[in-house]
Amino acid sequence: MGDLARHLAQWGTRNGDRLMGTHYDCDVLVIGSGAGGAPTAAVLAESGLDVLVVEEGPWVEQGEVVPFSLDQMDRQYRSGGLTVALGRPSIAYTEGRCAGGGTEVNSGLYRRPSEQTLDRWRRGWRIADFETDRFMSLCDEVETALSVQTVPGRHTPASERLRSGAAALGWQHDEIPRWMSYPDDGDATEGQRQSMTRTYLPRARRAGATIVTDTRVDRLIIDRGHAFRAELTDANGEPATVDFGHVIVCAGAIHSPALLQRSGLRGLIGRRLAVHPTVKLAARFDEAVNVGDDVPVHQVKEFAPELSFGGSASHPGLVALALTDAWPTMRDAVTAWPEIAVYYAAITSEGRGRVQALPGFRDPLVTYRLTRRDRAVLGRGLARLTQVMLAAGAREVYPSFRHAPIVRDRSDLATLANRFSADAASVMTVHLCSTVPMGDDTSVAAADSHGKIHGTSNVYVNDASLLPDAPGVNPQASVMAVALRNARRFVEEVDA
Ligand SMILES: Cc1cc2nc3c(=O)[nH]c(=O)nc-3n(C[C@H](O)[C@H](O)[C@H](O)COP(=O)(O)OP(=O)(O)OC[C@H]3O[C@@H](n4cnc5c(N)ncnc54)[C@H](O)[C@@H]3O)c2cc1C
Repeated sequence: MGDLARHLAQWGTRNGDRLMGTHYDCDVLVIGSGAGGAPTAAVLAESGLDVLVVEEGPWVEQGEVVPFSLDQMDRQYRSGGLTVALGRPSIAYTEGRCAGGGTEVNSGLYRRPSEQTLDRWRRGWRIADFETDRFMSLCDEVETALSVQTVPGRHTPASERLRSGAAALGWQHDEIPRWMSYPDDGDATEGQRQSMTRTYLPRARRAGATIVTDTRVDRLIIDRGHAFRAELTDANGEPATVDFGHVIVCAGAIHSPALLQRSGLRGLIGRRLAVHPTVKLAARFDEAVNVGDDVPVHQVKEFAPELSFGGSASHPGLVALALTDAWPTMRDAVTAWPEIAVYYAAITSEGRGRVQALPGFRDPLVTYRLTRRDRAVLGRGLARLTQVMLAAGAREVYPSFRHAPIVRDRSDLATLANRFSADAASVMTVHLCSTVPMGDDTSVAAADSHGKIHGTSNVYVNDASLLPDAPGVNPQASVMAVALRNARRFVEEVDA
């Protein structure tokens, strides 16, 4: 590690260090350290390249904050979790902003993309070298590296309720494996998330990569398609620059396109944001079901890929949040929070959004437009999820939309359906992708089949932005497998 690396490492981890006006060099600058950036950095560093990772958020060790707590949102989420895609209705979204990105704060639920999805991406965007078998072997690799497995012991009560409700209706359901390690004889509450700060980031560091946290890349300087410098700001507001041979932008599906746009690259970048819009409900049972620091591992797939049902984080603050849409009717329930758990219905969406960097503003403008079909599917999803809860023995169900009724039995379902309107619902998402889709078809793809931005010689993206559309399942497996694939290809090209 050279002087640059040592200084930058201190800069990122020791509050108060001031390196005003400093200037550094590296072979490859990786921007962002989440599901895309961390494996990218590990593969490149292990091949012998001089890698500098710059991450905007702090390094927070697991155990320092309670999972899914407000404290975690404050320290590890962007804007404390308050970020929104404007539209009718607006869609609240959350992003990790810390070393490890979304992988530190997420639920750890692992799903491979389906063969149909891979096929759709290959044909629709003309992605070269994208054979299903090879892609699935990358998923094998991710599963080994992250200890992807099912819960060894008992499930949480909230997960068990979802399973039993689906079983009672005869609806297809399963347990989703997670990237977790469990102690011998451990159960669902004792797992330790195998996030990037536990896996690929230490690997990258062991191989010689430098990981700088609390430092934001503001823009890249690009001359006729060739990028050579990044302008940075540390947590104290001090500027610096880094010169590099190549840059790989892994800042996530909102901030990768925003950074590229701030750097003068536009075209198709940021024009096709895809998400899985989600509506929620809270369900009250006759006994305690609430496990505040974990999420259910079962999903109901009877109507997949159009609709999926699962369980959300349910600590008391989030239960209260789920009741606020119809607070006058539902507020009394909040004191019963130990008996309440929150569940979601997620849809595949025909709608699309945009990410636009605005001059003078730190964060981009994000918009999303649901289609008429999306709105109808959200309503159908909430009604069917309510059925699952009733079949699971819920005493009361509290759907999250303004003027929602409390549902106590099947006779209330008609009222629910009549009153639902997507405009009145709290729609949210944690799955953001497709803002820099990859492929050789330049009429739809912003980057080539391995993530290099069309029209540039050395600017790459390697994160959720590259997925051509939303995969219809939890996306991290797809993001990581794509990142490994492209990082290996990058190393081959640089070596050639
Ligand atoms: C609450 C939550 C729950 C989720 N649950 C699941 C789940 O159970 N299963 C699943 O498969 N997926 C889940 N996801 C989605 C998954 O986490 C993401 O798909 C994945 O993390 C995306 O990887 P990425 O590399 O594109 O972005 P991220 O992992 O978000 O990483 C991007 C990183 O870049 C950094 N960055 C941004 N801008 C800059 C800049 N200008 N300079 C320097 N650094 C920058 C950010 O701080 C961030 O750390 C969840 C997400 C959230 C938020």
